Amino acid sequence: MTASYAPCPVCDAEVPVPPNPVLSELLVCESCSVALEVRALDPVVLDEAPQEEEDWGQ
Ligand SMILES: [Zn+2]
Repeated sequence: MTASYAPCPVCDAEVPVPPNPVLSELLVCESCSVALEVRALDPVVLDEAPQEEEDWGQ
């Protein structure tokens, strides 16, 4: 089975994609540590995962 890669939308690094990715699967870019979400499968397209950070206030 051939490993596949998709470009990170943030840093353009090649992010390894598992053999049978599914939509909305979450990956992490090893280069910039951003959370990525699978948005399309053929070809695989990655986009930044929605951030749900706590707002700790100022
Ligand atoms: Zn990246």
